Amino acid sequence: MTGKTRTFVLYPSLGVGHLIPMVELAKHLLRHGHGALIAVVNPPDTDAVSAAAVARLAAANPAIAFRLLPAPASPDVGAHPVKRDQDTLQLANPALRDLLLSLAGGADALLLDMFCVDALDVAAELGVPAYFFFASAAGDLAVFLNLPYLYPTLPSSFRDMGGALVRCPGMPPIQALDMPWSMRDRESDANKVRMYQWKRIPEGRGVLVNSFDWLEPRALRALGDGVCVPGRPTPRVFCIGPLVNDGSTTGESGERHECLAWLDAQPKRSVVFLCFGSKGAFSAAQLKEIARGLESSGHRFLWVVRSPPEEQGQSPEPDPDLGRLLPAGFVDRNRDRGMVVKNWVPQAQVVRHEAVGAFVTHCGWNSALEAIVSGLPMICWPLYAEQGLNKAFMVEEMKIAVALGRYEEFVKAEEVEAKVRLVMEAEEGRILRERLAVAREKALGATKEGGSSEVAFAEFLRDLDKSSSANGECN
Ligand code: UDP
Repeated sequence: MTGKTRTFVLYPSLGVGHLIPMVELAKHLLRHGHGALIAVVNPPDTDAVSAAAVARLAAANPAIAFRLLPAPASPDVGAHPVKRDQDTLQLANPALRDLLLSLAGGADALLLDMFCVDALDVAAELGVPAYFFFASAAGDLAVFLNLPYLYPTLPSSFRDMGGALVRCPGMPPIQALDMPWSMRDRESDANKVRMYQWKRIPEGRGVLVNSFDWLEPRALRALGDGVCVPGRPTPRVFCIGPLVNDGSTTGESGERHECLAWLDAQPKRSVVFLCFGSKGAFSAAQLKEIARGLESSGHRFLWVVRSPPEEQGQSPEPDPDLGRLLPAGFVDRNRDRGMVVKNWVPQAQVVRHEAVGAFVTHCGWNSALEAIVSGLPMICWPLYAEQGLNKAFMVEEMKIAVALGRYEEFVKAEEVEAKVRLVMEAEEGRILRERLAVAREKALGATKEGGSSEVAFAEFLRDLDKSSSANGECN
């Protein structure tokens, strides 16, 4: 614990994928003796986090205060979801302002999700220091900060550049097709929102990043050298991670999932785990192809299957009809060596299980960090958001993963089989495992006393103290 106790207000963007990393940050703050309140915007909108989900998280984390901020959803119902979310967050500013004013001792700092840039206006008005919490790789931050300047100079939208390489400071060359979906069309409203958001991030006092120094030296050098944001100061970056869900955040430590009992009965490092984040889903044809690839690889597997995207859109998510979606007899035929689970497993616990030997992942950053702290080699299959970038970093820079070929179109059974065999049987797999063992040690070391992330966290607190004295403690 570092000196005085402070109260932080954490402000996630809409959706559970943004809320869970904030809960990890809150737990981190509490471990250091500070107070944490998470303000969750709750518009009457299906994409937002439901009050019931917040209540579940609150029950699992009683030391964290949660507040629901009632906010009108964007009036522009026909707008792109990225634009709608941005409008909704902007409309939530008065509710955030009221909350901050209502806090008895005030807030020492506001910790903002990367999309919550308009909350900077509230922070400025009330004189509360605002930092961002960037729950993705430092490499993503380097790219995003640079894109508002780089993108207008490129010959066309990423969508029309295919495999052409984009060069951002501090990054390996990145194929245009790996750029985030929301930014693929330069003229789209979604891209305009993102460019606006990335351009405002430097207005924050600094950025806390859920990563650690050893993992991303090149990106951190570029951020530190100030080359990502031309003509303006780059915000100070504090790598304080990895902050990862150990299963307790989402209340999963209570009853044990049946897949964990199944894993108990499998040999060490023998199981390929396939799971694609909170939203990843495949067409029926692609599911059948994955099934065929897994079957012909001969390896054991634990596979989380969702209904195809066109069958979703309801809440709760419909159960997939495995009999129809997978090849005839697949589940019965593979009963001895495979388990298919519908919709959700306690992933944080699965990746830590010693029976798991490889992880086929969509490359969401939380999944990547969970794999790293478990020393688990990854097979990348990016699906949405910034996952293509994460894939590029993990394969080319960090060398902790391999990627499936043609993941952006349709992955054939032969490719699934080949990459599973490569990681589970070949020399490349052995090298990956060695590299992951080192990454795991470095990740665990970073958050120990004297580790780089603990040092960075202490620096962040010192920076905050400086800002408070500069402001004359006016909040
Ligand atoms: N997760 C889980 N079970 C599942 C799917 C996902 O526990 O079946 C958790 C996973 O452990 C991670 C989060 O949900 O903590 C997904 O975050 P990530 O950043 O990987 O992907 P996103 O869902 O944001 O795309």
